[in-house]
Amino acid sequence: MPQTPISAPQADILPAPVDLLVIGGGINGCGIARDAVGRGYSVVLAEQGDLAGATSSASTKLFHGGLRYLEYFEFRLVREALIEREVLLRAMPHISWPMRFVLPYHPDMRFEGATPTSRLLGMFMPWMRGRRPAWLIRLGLFLYDSLGGRKILPGTATLHLPGTAEGAPLQERFERAYEYSDCWVEDSRLVVLNARDAQARGATILTRSRVSAAQAKGGLWEVTLETAEGPKTLRARMLVNAAGPWVGAMIHGTLRLNARDKVRLVRGSHIVTRRLYDHDKCYFFQGTDGRIIFAIPYESDFTLIGTTDADHADPDTPPRCTDAERDYLCEFASQYFKRPVTADDVVWSYSGVRPLYDDGARSATAATRDYVLKTDQSAGAPVLHVFGGKITTYRRLAESALARIGAVLPVHNGNWTAGVPLPGGDFPVDGVAALTEDLRRRYPFLDAFWARRLIRAYGTEAPAILGEARSPADLGQDFGATLHEAEVRWLITQEFARTAEDILWRRSKLGLRLTAPQATELARWMASEVSA
Ligand SMILES: Cc1cc2nc3c(=O)[nH]c(=O)nc-3n(C[C@H](O)[C@H](O)[C@H](O)COP(=O)(O)OP(=O)(O)OC[C@H]3O[C@@H](n4cnc5c(N)ncnc54)[C@H](O)[C@@H]3O)c2cc1C
Repeated sequence: MPQTPISAPQADILPAPVDLLVIGGGINGCGIARDAVGRGYSVVLAEQGDLAGATSSASTKLFHGGLRYLEYFEFRLVREALIEREVLLRAMPHISWPMRFVLPYHPDMRFEGATPTSRLLGMFMPWMRGRRPAWLIRLGLFLYDSLGGRKILPGTATLHLPGTAEGAPLQERFERAYEYSDCWVEDSRLVVLNARDAQARGATILTRSRVSAAQAKGGLWEVTLETAEGPKTLRARMLVNAAGPWVGAMIHGTLRLNARDKVRLVRGSHIVTRRLYDHDKCYFFQGTDGRIIFAIPYESDFTLIGTTDADHADPDTPPRCTDAERDYLCEFASQYFKRPVTADDVVWSYSGVRPLYDDGARSATAATRDYVLKTDQSAGAPVLHVFGGKITTYRRLAESALARIGAVLPVHNGNWTAGVPLPGGDFPVDGVAALTEDLRRRYPFLDAFWARRLIRAYGTEAPAILGEARSPADLGQDFGATLHEAEVRWLITQEFARTAEDILWRRSKLGLRLTAPQATELARWMASEVSA
């Protein structure tokens, strides 16, 4: 009997070529996709896993200028980021908000020896070698206040700590502190809201779709995507390589290009403890080793402490917070808090890899945090590579990327994203309390925690999730910690969620609150619902 040949699944060739294929659904890929589609490009974004599945859900979650980068003379980056904080706050007042940072001062604080500032200081004031004097901190904060054209955020203040709420959890040797402003952002929600907005404007967002091969043919890229339904082929006029930690693997592996530019992978880990103190400000702690860490109020009942800086060899090795990193963070914070922080206090940890441009810096801490964009046409079709960047500068990075894309594929439309709110963010920057009260009036069964959680996640879209519900029972199955079927359905249909992990650790942080059996039940329910 003739045998039917067993053949590899045929790749579906998707019809017309698109202008741009964006590789990577982190903040940079989603920000570029949103900006590009709004200018009139046809755009497909392919993400190998979940949106924000890599670095963009593992940040410290600050819209910040980066006070410490001033010591590296990164004035361009700091200025751009400082100005950007308020642009972003206005566009997403649900998922971002101002924070005050308390920087306790003590003469033992040390620089990282290799910063340009510490070298300069060592040259002119050799007796200060390695020290970070109070006047220098004040000068840095003065620049921080002045470079960024603040309108919403209050400026720096000096605190006398004894007898204050800010001083209460700290050791008594800290008597003086400086207080300055930066902002918080829910990083993984920022990514998904950019992807949603891009989709609403006409982009195609493909998650769980890995770019496994690409070659230039007749001036177009022919790209293979590995998807759950088998391989698919897609043609694009230009590629945007926003693969984050895999940007180098994409250049040298998948695209087989000869570029000299390299990525430097720097791992950063955070620990989460039960709440360590009672006020809503953050701490900026300087170490005796020249590094700094933050302690930040987190998810109402917790404190977030981070980060570390360590070179990370391989993007395919999943980053995790090692015991040594956890102990380092505990010991660092214990130099400040009265009650030592120990491994027993840690309820969760996470780790991410910064995909920095390799500028040959000696230490991981010193490697530039600025972004670098490179256009390459050597293969016969254009590709733009994205290195580095911050969550804070993603929108400006996208504008710079679009300027480069426009030089290759011209369109008539220019910058447009400043001042355009993300989904759910169309309300005043100080409007969260009023919106939360409105929601509770309309849905009296919501308690304060639940209503605030919904407004902080979905802003003006929260009522679309609750619909005509008159009681929690109307929202379907209760998965625990106020998560109900109606919200889970929204996350699946509107926000690209496919697994319980997508929901518990990226669309929300309810993973900190659900019990193991509750999380298992959510996973079971989603497996049946998503395949149904
Ligand atoms: C510890 C830490 C703390 C930080 N804190 C801050 C902070 O407080 N504030 C701030 O502004 N910035 C911060 N950053 C920086 C910021 O998080 C990163 O610069 C940013 O998230 C990088 O985004 P990205 O889109 O380039 O990369 P990623 O988020 O990693 O996205 C790249 C995506 O590409 C996908 N991908 C890779 N290969 C393929 C392929 N072949 N096919 C399809 N998809 C692919 C990956 O799955 C991934 O999702 C921090 C970074 C770290 C690590």
